[in-house]
Amino acid sequence: MTASTFERRRYRCDSSHLWSVRVLIGSAEPEEHTSCRICGGEAITMRREVPTDRVVLSVESAEQVRDRPGPDPGDLRKFYVVMSDVNGRELRRTAHHIDLDAALELVRRCAGKEPVAALAEWDRDAPRGR
Ligand SMILES: [Zn+2]
Repeated sequence: MTASTFERRRYRCDSSHLWSVRVLIGSAEPEEHTSCRICGGEAITMRREVPTDRVVLSVESAEQVRDRPGPDPGDLRKFYVVMSDVNGRELRRTAHHIDLDAALELVRRCAGKEPVAALAEWDRDAPRGR
């Protein structure tokens, strides 16, 4: 199953309530998707959004827990980089925390690529961290 298997369908009812569902591309339109959960009215518009098949990259702070309270020692500026597909499936995560420059460099190298190319780029020379 590839990342582009799903689409998002965005609906609006007569009272301008908005909702959306994520469904398999080409799947049927069940009634519970097209009726408004707020007013019960039928959807009057529906718009399809098909995701791009590009990886999603995030830089997470490794500083969410500290060993001891007190002033910020300033040397905890460490990060993890996480790469996911558009369905939120995690493809890679740096094994250890790395500094911001290394994190941004990894993001720069993988950003805008489809999963196969991004994985090849990541595996070519991912920072090992400390
Ligand atoms: Zn409504």
